[in-house]
Amino acid sequence: MTKAKPQAPQAKPTDEKQTNCLACGKPIKKLKHYYRNGKFYCNKKCWRKATLKKEEEK
Ligand SMILES: [Zn+2]
Repeated sequence: MTKAKPQAPQAKPTDEKQTNCLACGKPIKKLKHYYRNGKFYCNKKCWRKATLKKEEEK
């Protein structure tokens, strides 16, 4: 029995490098990102969206 598989698909950890918008989940382009509070978003709209969502959880 061998466990070694050369092409085993694995889920990548999301908290290593944020490359997607936290609000809509779209990949953030290098030139089009909105950085706030240590997180990246596509734009201000998404940032506000995510912020409001957070406040709702309180
Ligand atoms: Zn977004």
